[in-house]
Amino acid sequence: MKVKIDGENCCGHARCWVTAPEFYKLDETGYAEFRGKTVDVPPEMEAAAKRGANTCPDRCITIIE
Ligand code: SF4
Repeated sequence: MKVKIDGENCCGHARCWVTAPEFYKLDETGYAEFRGKTVDVPPEMEAAAKRGANTCPDRCITIIE
């Protein structure tokens, strides 16, 4: 599984980080660390990745199965 974060629409709400801090981190500017990237999700982090994606108010996290 992979996660893609839309680099244009991530507004730095940090909900992903609040909801699933074990997977989502913020960069020094307060935006999602993976903004504008597609990253592999380790199997043990899949539930956290989905949980965080569901809380993004701008729907900018895409789960790729
Ligand atoms: S919740 Fe969405 S908009 Fe907010 S930092 Fe995370 S990916 Fe970006």
